[in-house]
Amino acid sequence: MSELFPSQRIQVLLPLPLSGVLDYLAVDDLHIRVGDFITVPLSGREMQGVVWDLVPPENDVPIEKLKYVIRKSELPPLPESLMKFVEWVANYTLSPYGSVLKMALSVPRKFDKPKKKIFYRLSSELPGKMTPARKKVVDAAVSDMPPDYPMPVKAWVEHAAVSEGVIRGMIKAGMLISQEVMGEDAFIKPDIDLERATLSDEQSEAAEHIIIQQQSGTFRTVLLEGITGSGKTEVYFEAVAEALKDPSAQVLVLVPEISLTAQWLDRFKERFGAEPVIWHSEMTPAQRRRAWWATIRGEARVIVGARSALFLPLKNLKLIIVDEEHSQTFKQDEGVMYHGRDMAVVRAMQSHCAVILASATPSLETMINAQNGKYDWLYLGERHGPAELPKMSSVDLRAHKLKPGSWISEPLQEALAENFKKGEQSLLYLNRRGYAPLTLCRGCGQRMECPHCSAWLVEHHKWGRLECHHCGFNRKVPDHCPNCEAEDSLVACGPGVERVAEEVATLFPDARLAVMSSDEISSPTMLKAMVEAIERHEVDFIIGTQIVTKGYHFPMLTLVGVIDADLGMSGADPRAAERTWQQLEQVAGRAGRAEHAGRVIFQTYQPDHPVLQALISGDKDLFLEREAAAREAQNLPPYGKLASLILSGPDKNKVLNLSKELSRSAPRGNDIKVLGPVPAPLSYLRGNYRYRFLIKADASVNLQNQLSHWTGKTRTARGVKIQVDIDPYSFY
Ligand code: ADP
Ligand code: ZN
Repeated sequence: MSELFPSQRIQVLLPLPLSGVLDYLAVDDLHIRVGDFITVPLSGREMQGVVWDLVPPENDVPIEKLKYVIRKSELPPLPESLMKFVEWVANYTLSPYGSVLKMALSVPRKFDKPKKKIFYRLSSELPGKMTPARKKVVDAAVSDMPPDYPMPVKAWVEHAAVSEGVIRGMIKAGMLISQEVMGEDAFIKPDIDLERATLSDEQSEAAEHIIIQQQSGTFRTVLLEGITGSGKTEVYFEAVAEALKDPSAQVLVLVPEISLTAQWLDRFKERFGAEPVIWHSEMTPAQRRRAWWATIRGEARVIVGARSALFLPLKNLKLIIVDEEHSQTFKQDEGVMYHGRDMAVVRAMQSHCAVILASATPSLETMINAQNGKYDWLYLGERHGPAELPKMSSVDLRAHKLKPGSWISEPLQEALAENFKKGEQSLLYLNRRGYAPLTLCRGCGQRMECPHCSAWLVEHHKWGRLECHHCGFNRKVPDHCPNCEAEDSLVACGPGVERVAEEVATLFPDARLAVMSSDEISSPTMLKAMVEAIERHEVDFIIGTQIVTKGYHFPMLTLVGVIDADLGMSGADPRAAERTWQQLEQVAGRAGRAEHAGRVIFQTYQPDHPVLQALISGDKDLFLEREAAAREAQNLPPYGKLASLILSGPDKNKVLNLSKELSRSAPRGNDIKVLGPVPAPLSYLRGNYRYRFLIKADASVNLQNQLSHWTGKTRTARGVKIQVDIDPYSFY
């Protein structure tokens, strides 16, 4: 066969949970290069994959047994830097190469040939007679569009409000010039020459530093730390503009939750005249394809996205920005468990470009890297304009006892009343969805629990249902106790945002309320509407979960009340205190961002807790120093290494037995310790029993080696799933 068709042996990586490449034969006519997208046969089906290597490994499958590549796609090859990145992420997270590749190819029907379409752009010469109707077209183009922006005939008709005849006439006259586009509407190119903000001295200095770094074309990580409202976004926009001076450069901006960034997108559009290309998991298949194609062809210049955007085929990446770098949403907790911020640094290293980590509350990991000089460290210490940082204080709930069924203490009530009277906006923060986190029977003490998880059901008044926040199970609120049959005996315990909203409505019957939680806001459009209503001051009180901490700028918002500052402080998570501090600092940062001064009130039972002390005194350095010292003493990240191993399965005995077996072969030494197995805090989840190991090791230990040695091939042994999480952020 191989003589009939001159061919070569190639190695192909398929987007399947396989660790290695598969060998195929490609006829020479295909002119295969590394990175090419190809279709190959696999167990009687067709599969799409990527040419990973052209060097035949020795001692492999005999050539007679190899199958031929079916076809090659016309797409440009997968950029080499992305291939390296896929390998790096796979090695680091101990995932199969193919599983990581799958993330880079998670685009439906990406190999379809884009249909070619003819669009038209305005000619710069404008030959032909000018008529009033034609003038309308020219004016519309000049005032609203970047030069050269191509559109289909129909869009011209709509945009200039003229008849199709006018457009056809202009095409004939050569005033509109045809242009072939690849199936999709082009993204409008950002315009770097639009008016920019006049930067303050400290802002310019920071921008200058980043620009120099960016221009050097070398890898460097820069921490851009700045208090909330100090203009970090304005600063990195300057770096984006600078990078885009290179006409083929691509810039990637990672944000924690893209669906929550309406205000950010508006600002980008104001600065660059066009929206960036957006990437996240909730896009439609068509939107994903359009963005992915634009990226691999180099047409997408600025991409803003969730962590998964790291796997986009950016071939001329010149700058990465990670906004709110401290955010835990960058960590993916299932499948390939990677941290978007850390992997952004790796991606930048492999693309030889700068990466900016921006935050008002940097993670301890990043702070320590900055202190060590591994990262550059820029600091913005002033709010823009007249705005000042809000005044912070706490209400000691031991002294100001809450009345039964009430969650707002008297001092906070007074502050809210005063603010309402002044006509300013207040925000009440409680990071808990629904009405009440626990419902129990007054008669027998029975707690309403999820049948599939070891978790309480959360009451949602809005739907009259109890819901499990882990698996989504829900049921109607029963009218009698399912255990003792007593009627009307179920009581709600503790508050969620719905319940706090109810109390605010009772206290201020004339006030206008908005609840901001993922239950109320199910789409970016709804979020946008709510954000705009708040901006227009159609809302007096906002009651919100962590959704409200996401960088919003509400000029009339001057009071923030934190219902339960102690929430989230305890638990097995070594980052619990750090994260609480970050969340509270961020939510506090929503207050007083314009000319009106802001204040923040924390309700707490532990006013002396280091987190509250740090917030109120504003001395975060002392707090972080202590956190760092505590982590160092316990050899926890970023000083030591940490991983977790979770075994789960529907048969408890099997899970337990495999746990014990693994326990016997666990690595031991002075530099590595294995804790467990113990039932995970969430010991039953979605019908699976869960046992957990924690692996602590010195920084010098090659944790990946140790773990793969230990768990070896037993990744899914006997109906038990084994999940390895390097640098875990989730501890339930
Ligand atoms: P951060 O990202 O640090 O929280 P932002 O970049 O969102 O801060 O800035 C806070 C507010 O101040 C925004 O409304 C922004 O437009 C405004 N702002 C910051 N710097 C400037 C500047 N140099 N000129 C004009 N407005 C600015
Ligand atoms: Zn459940």
